[in-house]
Amino acid sequence: MSEQAIFDVFVIGGGINGCGIARDAVGRGYSVALAEMDDFASGTSSGSTKLIHGGLRYLEHYEFRLVREALMEREVLWAMAPHVIWPMRFVLPYHKGGPRPAWLIRLGLFLYDHIGGRKLLPATSTLDMTRDAAGGPLKRLFTKAFEYSDGWVDDARLVVLNARDAADRGARIMARTRVVSARRENGRWAIETEDAQTGARETLRARLLVNATGPWVDRVLADTLGKNDVHNVRLVQGSHIVVKRKFDDPRAYFFQNPDGRIMFAIPYQNDFTLIGTTDRDFTGNPADVRISDAEIDYLCKSASEYFSDPVTTDDIVWTYSAVRPLYDDGASKAQEATRDYVLRVEGQNGQAPLLNVFGGKLTTYRRLAESALEKIGEAIGTKGSKWTATSHLPGGDFAATAYDTEVDMLKARYPFLALSHARRLVRLYGTQAASLLGHAASQADLGKHFGTDLYEVEVDWLIGQEWARRAEDVLWRRTKLGLKLTPAEIAELEDYMRGAVNAAA
Ligand SMILES: Cc1cc2nc3c(=O)[nH]c(=O)nc-3n(C[C@H](O)[C@H](O)[C@H](O)COP(=O)(O)OP(=O)(O)OC[C@H]3O[C@@H](n4cnc5c(N)ncnc54)[C@H](O)[C@@H]3O)c2cc1C
Repeated sequence: MSEQAIFDVFVIGGGINGCGIARDAVGRGYSVALAEMDDFASGTSSGSTKLIHGGLRYLEHYEFRLVREALMEREVLWAMAPHVIWPMRFVLPYHKGGPRPAWLIRLGLFLYDHIGGRKLLPATSTLDMTRDAAGGPLKRLFTKAFEYSDGWVDDARLVVLNARDAADRGARIMARTRVVSARRENGRWAIETEDAQTGARETLRARLLVNATGPWVDRVLADTLGKNDVHNVRLVQGSHIVVKRKFDDPRAYFFQNPDGRIMFAIPYQNDFTLIGTTDRDFTGNPADVRISDAEIDYLCKSASEYFSDPVTTDDIVWTYSAVRPLYDDGASKAQEATRDYVLRVEGQNGQAPLLNVFGGKLTTYRRLAESALEKIGEAIGTKGSKWTATSHLPGGDFAATAYDTEVDMLKARYPFLALSHARRLVRLYGTQAASLLGHAASQADLGKHFGTDLYEVEVDWLIGQEWARRAEDVLWRRTKLGLKLTPAEIAELEDYMRGAVNAAA
């Protein structure tokens, strides 16, 4: 498309919501561009608890619409991307005198099982923790538990797969491209972008602008669009710690803290346990969010209320933090603010429309995109119809329950791969793992070895197909191999990528 061409839809923000809207829009026949100022999912969308969940806790705040929509999405998303999304069972221990009575939890789980179109996911059951393996790592106080279903997602990969699919369908997808200003001009938007590496500026035109910048949404309204007095979202920081594996069971734990908050302890990347999250109001630039000592202390202490072997700061191998952009409904406590999303269109009397996205969850991103497309249709004319519910993301075109079969098939085609390597590749790339490996007939054909099971062939794929430019993109978003590589190996990867990216430029 030439510089003067006019896009139907221009999306600011390459998190889950921006990429989801761009993909849905281009699939309906709109011409679409998207600009992300950093790497895809570098904002909130790689810092979540990574659950595709109804949100049991939101029932307490009467968020029935949100919970029902989210529950219904669990199996839709699982079928759409069974490589990066899969079911997980959660063990919710309780005891007399705990923060919530057993009947209330049972009622919540009854609703959970019945209002959400559950077909493949198993129903809630009760556990005798004195006999069940899940009781093993916990204090003896917890003799009973409920076990229920939700889903797990590789959040950062979900984002990049949406971006990839949007690009494959014809959208112009730009990473490391900041929108510096956007102004209305003759009934259109004139959007000025800046390349983060070269500083080069470009002006693009569009009929409709989407502000899907998550926790930056008010900043973009104020600084990029020149609005005064903007206050639509409440910023709430959430942090996680990753510790050496605390338990061997594949099930996750749902803990209730004495202060009424809840916390998860989840099996993570085979060798680790993910513990989180916190909830505290945040001010400042979301790009600078970091875990505080108080949060570390809170997470260790709360988890140690449950595990018989306490969680200490010495166990921590990694932490991450992100900022929730919650629609500001005036709730007094951070954990009570609504998790639902709000879409608002501005622009009357022939003005070019602006669609702002406030709030949202990973779990509901596809439905949020459908609602956004309804508003886009009303504003600039409808094109196409809903299509994503039965679609597959790249590499996700296999049956939801067939992950092991996919691994077997990959192993059969590439017998030299270690089983753990094949499993990792299918988890990340699904049916595209074979395209990534190409004609490789031996380990040597995978190219330079960077540590653990990371080879040149994968790094090249991530540079060529998934916009990876720095070691950090590969190690913390496209994969989580940052948990395994040594500083020397990371430096070597950084060097290699610099050379490969420059050579491709
Ligand atoms: C601690 C925590 C735990 C969570 N757990 C879950 C969970 O388990 N399940 C679930 O469903 N949801 C969860 N969520 C919610 C979910 O992660 C977020 O709702 C979602 O990721 C928000 O996505 P987004 O696209 O709106 O924002 P973001 O992912 O932040 O994307 C916005 C993007 O806009 C870009 N941007 C900003 N300004 C500009 C500009 N001027 N030009 C170009 N680009 C710009 C940013 O770089 C950023 O990448 C959690 C959130 C947090 C914080």
